[in-house]
Amino acid sequence: MLTPGCVIGILGGGQLGRMIALAAAELGLKTHILCPDKDSPAFHVSAHHICAAYDDFDALERFAAGVDVVTYEFENVPLATAEFLAARKPLRPGAKALAITQDRLAEKSFVRDLGIETAPFAPVDDLAGLEAAVAALGLPAVLKTRRFGYDGKGQVMIRPGDDLTAAWHALGRQSAILEGFVAFEREVSVVAARRGDGAFSAFEVTQNVHREHILHTSTVPAEITPAAARQARAMALGIADALDYEGVFAVELFVVGRGAAERVIVNEIAPRVHNSGHWTQNGAVTSQFEQHVRAIAGWPLGEVARLGRAQMTNLIGADVHDWQALLAEPGAHLHLYGKEEARAGRKMGHVVRVRRDPQACANIPEDGC
Ligand code: AMP
Repeated sequence: MLTPGCVIGILGGGQLGRMIALAAAELGLKTHILCPDKDSPAFHVSAHHICAAYDDFDALERFAAGVDVVTYEFENVPLATAEFLAARKPLRPGAKALAITQDRLAEKSFVRDLGIETAPFAPVDDLAGLEAAVAALGLPAVLKTRRFGYDGKGQVMIRPGDDLTAAWHALGRQSAILEGFVAFEREVSVVAARRGDGAFSAFEVTQNVHREHILHTSTVPAEITPAAARQARAMALGIADALDYEGVFAVELFVVGRGAAERVIVNEIAPRVHNSGHWTQNGAVTSQFEQHVRAIAGWPLGEVARLGRAQMTNLIGADVHDWQALLAEPGAHLHLYGKEEARAGRKMGHVVRVRRDPQACANIPEDGC
């Protein structure tokens, strides 16, 4: 168990690392960030940082020597880096969560083997494999790279009549999976935390809307039946237990079916704090960032009840120029990441709006799950 004054090492210096560092500071913990980008937003708020590549093992050795526990803010940490650090200091979450979530085929297979529904999928390693997968799953379908896909990058939608050779080339002829297209009603996610001893707690299910493949808003309460919300939390618990998970993670889900037939199926697991959990900073008793710190420190998990109806809106690219208007808006909580250049598609900050609601906690079961 960590004690105040201990140092959390964070791999990755983006806004997620920055917000973990801020939460750690509030609890009397220090952070040490390792990131190859000299303009990392997390460097601004951390006691220590090293600007080095993830495969610079001399730098990793120094980093490990200066921390009490290591965590990460992105899922593409090279496995060799994770294993090197895990041999020196506790790595939370562990390397298994990385190995599985870095590869869409491994991830979908892992989820299916737990008896949890996913989109139908098939591995694709070449054009003949794509033709076979299309014959098995039918169209429309989504062809995705197995590795390094995010915010809709590394994906090609294939509709009936489309040229498969063109789709295969558009994806760059990399190892891929084909997923049957899911005609979902809505997209939701569960952000949850697990401690090493198995203690588990999930925030309320969040409804997510994407624009141009980037998260636009996250809203609680979500439009979801109580049964489907329970199913979502149970899936998160099953996944966390199977991974022996330590820390906060997110499960992205599709809501399918209507009324009594409504259910959720898993799209993706993120082994880290997640954009769809940012509403908790102002809309829940404990933020996901504090919850992550508590979980990896081996401390009691915080209360997850929400404080009202909350909505998080991302500020993408030029949206950030509205900062003055947002500051002037009553009840709007502005979070800026300290990035200098507001490039198109770049996450620059977010705003959380909370409307107080005395019924807010009514649909959180007593065990929080
Ligand atoms: P992903 O990178 O897998 O999270 O996918 C990004 C977005 O593409 C999701 O949030 C969905 O909106 C959409 N998408 C991904 N996979 C599918 C699918 N199998 N069926 C329908 N839409 C999908």
